[in-house]
Amino acid sequence: MGLTRIRHSSHSEHFLLLKYPKEPYRCEGCKELGFGPGYECEHEDCCFYLHEECANATPSAFHSFLKCSLKFHSRAPQGDGRICDACGQDVLGFVYQCKHKNPHDYHPSCLKLQRTLTAEDGTRLHLKKKLPSKCLNCGSTRTSNGIKGWSYVSSCGQYCFHVACVKDMVLENWKKGYFLQDGSVNEANSYQALESFNPNREVALPSGRRNSSKTKQVWRKAKTAVMLIISALFGDPTALISLLIQQLLSD
Ligand SMILES: [Zn+2]
Ligand SMILES: [Zn+2]
Ligand SMILES: [Zn+2]
Ligand SMILES: [Zn+2]
Ligand SMILES: [Zn+2]
Repeated sequence: MGLTRIRHSSHSEHFLLLKYPKEPYRCEGCKELGFGPGYECEHEDCCFYLHEECANATPSAFHSFLKCSLKFHSRAPQGDGRICDACGQDVLGFVYQCKHKNPHDYHPSCLKLQRTLTAEDGTRLHLKKKLPSKCLNCGSTRTSNGIKGWSYVSSCGQYCFHVACVKDMVLENWKKGYFLQDGSVNEANSYQALESFNPNREVALPSGRRNSSKTKQVWRKAKTAVMLIISALFGDPTALISLLIQQLLSD
């Protein structure tokens, strides 16, 4: 894992350790949620966390989706009101910006999103700059705040989801308390948490009998895709994912 004990300019008074935090955390760099490996201050009282991507941000970066190079800023030079062009969430801290007159903004962790995700059942999802068809969650090719945003699309092209839509879903549930402080799922609410992900049925499901095996198969695939995207977005919340997967396979 490279250097596991570092000093970082954003918290220079203490060393930070690369850990697998027991609970989801708020990254002090980009202010986004994290579940996966991150840097934690050695002094527990500090409760200071940084995403691995935020701690290791480089002064400049490239992404194959973009023609121009990106520069790192600990705050957007233009101030508040910037939106990440990958995930559609607000930019409240660490950000990469391109040099266009009206620049694009990217969270460090969004810039590092894996290009291909593979599920245990072989389902593959590919990160795309443009949605080839409508997002199964919102039924649109644009996100609710009007940006196009990046998406994950299955190899067969049938399952498309905005990164923004999946992130919104998790953050909504986070706020509602479906996820407990220790990162596990509040079991009483976990089914509800999953159901709150509500694909646009007209788009997502083939017409015909509601409980046909074909319909169930589509649902299961759609949910597998969503779980896969969640693990790519927030790190690998193993306990969370396995619990939710169990729920899906049991219906
Ligand atoms: Zn961060
Ligand atoms: Zn500290
Ligand atoms: Zn983002
Ligand atoms: Zn640009
Ligand atoms: Zn969407």
